[in-house]
Amino acid sequence: MQQNWSRHLRYTLAGLAGTTLAGFYVGYPVYGLTAGLGLYLLWTLNQTRRLAQWLADPDAKDEAPQSLGIWGDLFDRLHKLNQNYLQTRDQLRARIDRIQESTNAMRDGVIMTDARGAMEWWNGSAEHLLGFRRNTDQGQYIYNLIRTPAFKSYFDAKDYREPLELHSPARPHIHLQIQISLFGEEDRLIVAKDVTRLHQLEQMRRDFVSNVSHEMRTPLTVISGYLETLADNADDLPAKWRRAINTMATQSFRMETLVTDLILLSRIETGDQAVNDAPTDVGRLVRQVCQDARTLSGEKQHEIILEATDPHLLKGDENQLRSAFSNLIFNAVKYTPAGGRITVAWFANTEGGHLSVKDTGVGIDQVHIPRLTERFYRADPSRHKDTGGTGLGLAIVKHVLINHDGSLEIHSRLGEGSEFVCHFPPERLVESPQSNTTDVGEA
Ligand code: ADP
Repeated sequence: MQQNWSRHLRYTLAGLAGTTLAGFYVGYPVYGLTAGLGLYLLWTLNQTRRLAQWLADPDAKDEAPQSLGIWGDLFDRLHKLNQNYLQTRDQLRARIDRIQESTNAMRDGVIMTDARGAMEWWNGSAEHLLGFRRNTDQGQYIYNLIRTPAFKSYFDAKDYREPLELHSPARPHIHLQIQISLFGEEDRLIVAKDVTRLHQLEQMRRDFVSNVSHEMRTPLTVISGYLETLADNADDLPAKWRRAINTMATQSFRMETLVTDLILLSRIETGDQAVNDAPTDVGRLVRQVCQDARTLSGEKQHEIILEATDPHLLKGDENQLRSAFSNLIFNAVKYTPAGGRITVAWFANTEGGHLSVKDTGVGIDQVHIPRLTERFYRADPSRHKDTGGTGLGLAIVKHVLINHDGSLEIHSRLGEGSEFVCHFPPERLVESPQSNTTDVGEA
């Protein structure tokens, strides 16, 4: 380029010298120079016009205009650059088309939105599953099309570790699982999966467990009723029957407890028991449960400390909350050796309301903690015979907390005691009309 430029400069200067010389011969050297410069200007203007015309159409595949000297060089180089650009653009376009084709073939709905939720692109399945329309919905905010409040909160929260389940706004019989991923500058990639079949199976399982439990309840009540009567009159029976009847009475009592827990769990889980959002006085509730826990502790003489200093009430279903809190507090009694300490605390801060149940009991090995809230999961199966638990307690706690937008935190170490904390969001807290009394008491 440098070489061409110096050649171009040489030729131009030579041309100008020529016209000046010609002017000199006829006695007007200045006119000769001016004519030379004028010609050069005209030529340059013409090349600029040709360049502008050629650049006006960026898709132009034609050869670049032909020219001499530096202009010819410039045209060639620009032509090569343009060719490279067109080739890269076509390759990228082909790749995008292919990605769109493959995403369109997916059974899951895929939607791309910007950071504010404006719809940029979606595939055919998203149209089918969510009822989006290509002509009218481009640029619309997605939460105006999926108008479930849960979706808006999920979208805004930016915590997408767990998927969200909801009914399709366009086809309510379709149950969808929504998973969002962040990319670019907080843009969202939303995947909507049709989980209707799975949902139906889950519903069938729940109905089955609930129906069986209900059907078993009446015969079990009859059996345990008769066994209790027999056990009460065991003195009149032959000695060899006494042990058998006492064992049968204990086992039928266990089965009754199990069936009661199963029915309770299926009600809480299926939402049959509508969540009543009346303000509940958690302080009073846990005071009652602690009283029952002292009765359960009996001769084991646990030290049960209640710290219910917070005046906040909790919007929630009192019955469900009682089930959850009593499961946690009774577990602390069951899994803490005689004389151990159990501390129950209710407090609120900017993050919400918290109920903590801490014990100095046997503790739980770390490996079990993630699975503790599964139905029938036991950290130490050999132990449950002594405690008479059903293995459903923490599953009930988990579902009660889900119904109250809460979560359960578990800290424990084998041999060092445990702490179970129920967290409730700030929106569920209500200021108590009359300030609560500080209650720090023990058994
Ligand atoms: P269970 O009826 O067996 O108590 P849960 O669902 O209430 O069933 O608890 C599940 C398991 O978690 C229990 O079997 C026990 O191993 C463990 N666990 C629960 N609470 C405690 C606690 N406070 N201390 C030690 N282990 C506990």
